[in-house]
Amino acid sequence: MSKPAERLAELDHAHLWHPFTPMRRWRSSRPLIIDRAEGFELIDTEGRRYIDGVSSLWCNVHGHRVPQIDQAICRQLAKVAHTTLLGLGSPPSIELAARLLSLAPGRLNKVFFSDAGSTAVEVALKMAIGYWHHRGMPEKTRFIGLKAAYHGDTTGAMSVGYSEPFHAPFGSMLFPVDFAPAPDPCHGPEAALGPVARGLWPSEDPDRCTAGRSASLAALERLLKRDGARTAAIVIEPLVQAAAGMICQPPGFARAVGELAERYQALLIVDEVATGFGRTGTLFASHQEHLEPDIMCLAKGLSGGYLPLAATLVTDRIEEVFAGSADQPRVFYHGHTYTGNALGCAAALASLDLFWSSNLLEHVKASARLIRDRLNGLRACHHVLDIRQRGLMVGIELCRDRTSRQRLDPSHRRTGEAVCAAMRTQGLILRPLGDVVVLMPPPAMGHDLIERMLGIVIRTIKGWQWD
Ligand code: PLP
Repeated sequence: MSKPAERLAELDHAHLWHPFTPMRRWRSSRPLIIDRAEGFELIDTEGRRYIDGVSSLWCNVHGHRVPQIDQAICRQLAKVAHTTLLGLGSPPSIELAARLLSLAPGRLNKVFFSDAGSTAVEVALKMAIGYWHHRGMPEKTRFIGLKAAYHGDTTGAMSVGYSEPFHAPFGSMLFPVDFAPAPDPCHGPEAALGPVARGLWPSEDPDRCTAGRSASLAALERLLKRDGARTAAIVIEPLVQAAAGMICQPPGFARAVGELAERYQALLIVDEVATGFGRTGTLFASHQEHLEPDIMCLAKGLSGGYLPLAATLVTDRIEEVFAGSADQPRVFYHGHTYTGNALGCAAALASLDLFWSSNLLEHVKASARLIRDRLNGLRACHHVLDIRQRGLMVGIELCRDRTSRQRLDPSHRRTGEAVCAAMRTQGLILRPLGDVVVLMPPPAMGHDLIERMLGIVIRTIKGWQWD
């Protein structure tokens, strides 16, 4: 290790607390410190290169140091980096709001900016509660979500999410939410779902998909029948529950949730923080499901993965209630200092331009096919339980033995981590979710690099020493 790299490592170990990182283990090993990037490769302080296989945590879209985005940020920087949206306007936030709404599904027609996926969700929850309150239905305060959902780490976002290990110490902070089971063809109750059809992954098995979908929708409807009058909104990640281990919903599921929401007079909040901006093959997952959400949350890929920027999109019907009337005007008492940051909005506008100028969504479809074809190479591997994929969101679930569906021993929950660590030595950065190896390349990544990434993944999993 060079002297400057050693100094940084020491300072990191002494002073940094890394998110979602086992700090004791982190401090006992040499940290990988990324110094710069070129295209889709990250370069560490020693000059070693790594493929950015998880889009710098699911946000990078066009690669790093993209001239068009860099220049857009510089042009904005030459004017001003940040001014507040509290009672003032700014050209990039106005242009971006209009552009987003021209691309968004359904009747969404107003944008509220913030800075992270969690804050976009937090804003959505307050909008839903406030909407019913102002409409004279203050009893509609409850939310319904899906088990294993992840919507972020602020209090409201945690409450509508469902993760026992993440939330265990913080239960006292969370408000009560009802959860229906996720439509999960791989982990649903064995007895109900029966054996996996021959030659298919569990998530491809039509019977298991139908059973999972029906069980989830029936549970949702039971909750709505019981409590619809008190329900403010249903909150879902449409198509893919990403942090749950890339649980893919059967086609039509999110649409059916939307219909239930409408039937029982609950708002539909879709969290497209992970699925937005091309990752599932369409600009938003809601487009594939013909969803017309009342509220949509965006972040991560919104700025192309460059800067912290988030948006909560909402229909006029909701915003107008908050605006109040001429004689009784109202204020939405919510805002963040960096709301609608000008540099972030300039990056987002340049990123959206690139979607069309580079025909990115067509490229994503071809890349998704390439990944699906290559991962067929793992069908014979008994240590792969399931491969789940929607577009460029991919989860490869490892197990002890597929035939007996034996999961990895709980003490081996670190196998996913060990496998990803082995890939790192070959120049690929992936981050697992438990025993699920997650691949989420930036939508614009070229096929040569995708092939290289898949070569490393397949070689490492096939060659793993499963004791
Ligand atoms: N919603 C979803 C679906 C996510 O996947 C995430 C993060 O992974 C979030 C919300 C939270 O976003 P952030 O980490 O920007 O707060």
